[in-house]
Amino acid sequence: MEKQKHLDDNISQIDNLVIYIIGLNRSGSTLLDNILSYHEQVMSVGELHNLNGYYCKTGFGRRQNWLCSCNSEVKECSFWSKVIKDTSFSKEFITKLEDTKYYKTDILSSYFIKKNFHKNIQHTQNNLTGETFANNTWALYESVFRHSKKNIIIDSSKEISEAYFINKYKKSNIKFLLIERDIWEVVFSKRKRIANFTTEYKQKLGIKENSIYKDILLSYKKAKQNKVIAKEILTKENADIKVVKYSCLAKAPNEVLNEICDFLKISSINIPQEMGIGSRITHTIHGSPSRYEKKKIKLDERWREYYKKKKIALWWARILQFFI
Ligand SMILES: [Zn+2]
Repeated sequence: MEKQKHLDDNISQIDNLVIYIIGLNRSGSTLLDNILSYHEQVMSVGELHNLNGYYCKTGFGRRQNWLCSCNSEVKECSFWSKVIKDTSFSKEFITKLEDTKYYKTDILSSYFIKKNFHKNIQHTQNNLTGETFANNTWALYESVFRHSKKNIIIDSSKEISEAYFINKYKKSNIKFLLIERDIWEVVFSKRKRIANFTTEYKQKLGIKENSIYKDILLSYKKAKQNKVIAKEILTKENADIKVVKYSCLAKAPNEVLNEICDFLKISSINIPQEMGIGSRITHTIHGSPSRYEKKKIKLDERWREYYKKKKIALWWARILQFFI
C-alpha cells in the first residue's frame, strides 16, 4: 500500500505531455507512434482527429468498420465510452479540420505557401472553427489523461493546420515530431496500398486513382508545406518541434529514439526485438493496420524494384524532393 502510494506520487509529479506527430500518410508515423508507445507512461490514441468519424461511422475507418483497436465500437469501448461521456461528445463535436485547402497552392515558393496558409488560418479563425476544434481536442486530451492514468499522449493525426490550432490554444505541455520520408517512397507505399483495395471500396471512399506524376506532385506540395509551416510559423510561435527522418529511424532506431527522448525530456525506451502490439489491449483510433503486425524494424526498400521501370517518375520525384 505504502509502496503503491509512493509510486502514484512519483507519477503525478511528471507533467502531462502531448506528443503530436505531423507528417504525410505513409511516412512512417505508425512506426514512430508504435515505438514511443512502449514507454510505460505513454497512451497512444492513434489518429484522434478521426474520433468523430468513428463515432458517426463515416469517412476514414470503413475498412476497420470504425472499430477501436480493442475491437469495440467507440461508444461501447471500455475506454472511449468514458471519454465520450466526459466530454459530452455528440455528432456535432468537431475533431477534425478540413485540411486539403491549405496546401492547394499552385505557387510553390515558401513565401506563397505562408501567405496562403495565413489566409486560410484567418478564415478558420474568423468562423471560430479553429478555436472550437482546438478546445474540443484539449478536452479529449484531458479526459484521456484522466482515464488512462498515463502522463503522455501520442496523437498521430499528422495534420499541420490542426497542429497549428492545438498549439495556439494549448492547455498543457505539447511537443511536435515532424516525420519526413522521401516522396518517392511515400508515393510507392500509397500506390501499393490502394492497388489492394476493391473497386467498390475505392468508389465508396471517393479514392481517385491519379497518375504517378500527380501523386508525386501532391506529396511534394504537402511535404513542402509541412516543412515551411513547421519551421517558419510553428517555431516562431514557440512550438517545440523536432524533425525525424524515417530512413534514420528505420536504420538506427535506438540512436534516433535516444535523441527523441532527450527532446521530449522523457526517460529512455527499450525497443523490443520485434514490433507489434501483440497481446496488449490498446484503444487506438485508426492508423495503419501494420501496427498489429509482428515484425522487426527495418528500412523498407521495396520501392527500388517498383521504380525500375518508372525511371522518369523517379527522377521527377528526386527533382521535387530537392526543393523541399
Ligand atoms: Zn477500445
